[in-house]
Amino acid sequence: MKHRISMLWPDGLKKAVTFSYDDGVMQDLRLTALFRRYGLKATFNLNSGFFGQIDSSLQRGREIDHSHVPEEDVACVYAGFECAVHTAHHPWLTQLSAVNAAEEILSDRAAIEAVIKQPVRGMAYPFGAVNAQVKDVVRACGIVYARGTGVTGDTSLPEDAYDWSCSCHHSALEPLIEPFLSDDRRLALLSVWGHSYEFDITETWDEFEEQLSRLGGKDDVWYATNLEIFDYIEAYGRLRWTAAGDVAENPTATDLFIECDGETVCIPAGERIEL
Ligand SMILES: [Zn+2]
Repeated sequence: MKHRISMLWPDGLKKAVTFSYDDGVMQDLRLTALFRRYGLKATFNLNSGFFGQIDSSLQRGREIDHSHVPEEDVACVYAGFECAVHTAHHPWLTQLSAVNAAEEILSDRAAIEAVIKQPVRGMAYPFGAVNAQVKDVVRACGIVYARGTGVTGDTSLPEDAYDWSCSCHHSALEPLIEPFLSDDRRLALLSVWGHSYEFDITETWDEFEEQLSRLGGKDDVWYATNLEIFDYIEAYGRLRWTAAGDVAENPTATDLFIECDGETVCIPAGERIEL
């Protein structure tokens, strides 16, 4: 290679933050308000079979609301965020036949799409449960990435699109914030997952808001949904290079950014550039 090349996020940024929240519970109303207040983006993984269901559970001796957002409110509550599949009824997909797993995924996808009027392409596995058969089914259902519950404990990029690991669960976010914000040396993705009802159980809404206030509003951070992150990485992977590494062609509809010998370079959508 003639040049030293590495990937950058849109606009030549080195840092990205994304959140992923599961089950589509009523506490998402409070959480989406917080994300909006601090300019953060997130993905919400919804169980359409439970839309509007009233429920609660006993946690640490207290009754915690576990009701689900009604179907008619989904488009409004999650406007500006990504809605993704979490299956219709939250089963262990690894224990279902391929046909039943496909039904759980496809019916959820269709129900969400009917409400938000856009293609749903992302997913989170219920209970994080996944195996080779489940991955095949998910792919066949037109899902392009699926998040698990595995965590890396760092800000590296996910390696397996069909078992996407996050940096951390939100309960373990604090130690990652300062190193992430202060390190400009390499490409970083801070990805966080959880359930919004957990903030009721642990009574940590204020703590989480304070963390969001530190993460939000930064000029050098890309705030994106899980799908936007996936789509950018996928587009970057479609760059065409000469063997010498001195010409790059971008066949996608996305402007792509690289660091070339320490300089930020944009490879505009549909164009070929010489480095
Ligand atoms: Zn779940």
